[in-house]
Amino acid sequence: MRTESDWRAVQEEALQRRARGERVGFVPTMGFLHRGHTSLFALARPRCDWLVASIFVNPLQFGPTEDLGRYPRDPEGDAAKARAEGVDLLFTPTTLYHRDHSTRVIVDQVSDGLCGASRPTHFEGVATVVARLFGVVQPHVAVFGEKDYQQLQLIRRMTRDLALPIEVIGGPLVRDADGLALSSRNAYLSEEQRTRALSLHQALDDMAEAVAAGTRDAADLLEIGRRRIHADRLDYLEIRDATDLRPLNQVDGPARGFVAATYGGTRLIDNRSLSS
Ligand code: AMP
Repeated sequence: MRTESDWRAVQEEALQRRARGERVGFVPTMGFLHRGHTSLFALARPRCDWLVASIFVNPLQFGPTEDLGRYPRDPEGDAAKARAEGVDLLFTPTTLYHRDHSTRVIVDQVSDGLCGASRPTHFEGVATVVARLFGVVQPHVAVFGEKDYQQLQLIRRMTRDLALPIEVIGGPLVRDADGLALSSRNAYLSEEQRTRALSLHQALDDMAEAVAAGTRDAADLLEIGRRRIHADRLDYLEIRDATDLRPLNQVDGPARGFVAATYGGTRLIDNRSLSS
């Protein structure tokens, strides 16, 4: 595995490999890698000849009061994990944008509500950086995790709307043994906060069980979920269509439950399918 921080060198190699008929795979991350990330590398590996993973803590997707400055980092650990999972090139740009970068990518509808409501400029930052990373890495196939389900649907929509010839694949959400969704931000949690944070996936599980038992009304399902959650602040608990993310009053087809809550200064998200 090679590590490269210069985006021009990465783009040049990607174009050369494409010209030789190689298939390029890509997994973008913000680093501090865990099994959620490495599961995406494993999904991408057999689907390409040359696998690029990026580590870039993108300032555009952080709000002014968020954790950009203290986002956890572990460059050596990240490199070892990426190598072990068969990544060919670890792209670690320090700068990715021109000084006068002036393009923003806005994806309507799927970015409305959920994390788009509480993090107003977040998805614009995500779509803009992913569009730029796609331009640099020139992937045939890119893999994103269902942990950030709204982000995954946004990337799918952007790729479709801009006719980008890239296959976007979603990887299942990976959990710890106790059910907590793996996240780099779990490193911020105290033991007591972590114990209470288990209530997020338990609430989603309760809702899925109720759907399986025949409850269809979203308000009833949300009440079941809300009863379970112990958080310092519940940001949202919602039920949405699994594809276009429109809010649902009834669970009749593919639906997902979404939750976001804070524990101390740490904001966690989780989601799961509610369809039986
Ligand atoms: P991040 O480093 O948090 O920006 O995440 C990079 C990619 O890894 C995104 O596509 C995430 O959705 C994905 N990811 C993060 N945590 C998990 C997880 N627990 N399970 C599956 N994918 C994940």
